[in-house]
Amino acid sequence: MRVVGLTGGIGSGKSTVAKMFESLGVPVYIADERAKKLMNTQPNLIKQLKELLGEKAYDANGLNRAYIAQKVFTDKALLQQLNNIVHPAVADDFKVWVENQKTSTPYVIKEAAILFENGGYKNFDFTILVTAPEESRITRVMKRDGVTRQSVLDRIENQWSDSEKVVLADIVISNRDLEKTLPIVKKIHNKILFKR
Ligand code: ATP
Repeated sequence: MRVVGLTGGIGSGKSTVAKMFESLGVPVYIADERAKKLMNTQPNLIKQLKELLGEKAYDANGLNRAYIAQKVFTDKALLQQLNNIVHPAVADDFKVWVENQKTSTPYVIKEAAILFENGGYKNFDFTILVTAPEESRITRVMKRDGVTRQSVLDRIENQWSDSEKVVLADIVISNRDLEKTLPIVKKIHNKILFKR
């Protein structure tokens, strides 16, 4: 079974593309969602996060994402410490998840916002990068999250540019027009199955 990494900058449509693969029967591990779940349920993780970020990291509804995001946004060292706690927990969880898929599928996908920046791409059989024009990414996220143009630009600036990622990616999906993206995804899916 092959393990495929899927990534893309904010608003590129990586979650949308991941769902397309899922609709074709491919098991997809969404790193951000799993991380959120682990941070809400794993006692050891909760303890470490409270030690790092303070008791306010959790409220009555569980993980206080807004508080954490605001705390780490301007503090790169703190963000690094947070990642050092969360990433190994997600990596362990992913290993177990992959083991559980083994009998039923020729390949699985891990969707992650960061794949190239941290060298994680080396752990995959191959990688898929989703790209879109910057202007489309900005308007999509403004609409989806109800946020300002500047806040999207700030987040884009914190990530690697598409041109830096394109050189490392094995497959690039240009996600401009949704109707054109689905046939591309189907074609890639069939190629992966055929090359088994
Ligand atoms: P993030 O990094 O913020 O999680 P993402 O890369 O996962 O973003 P999506 O959530 O898949 O991006 O897409 C962003 C928004 O744009 C969503 O509301 C989605 O429905 C919409 N979208 C995705 N692809 C297209 C497209 N080709 N045309 C128009 N809208 C799109």
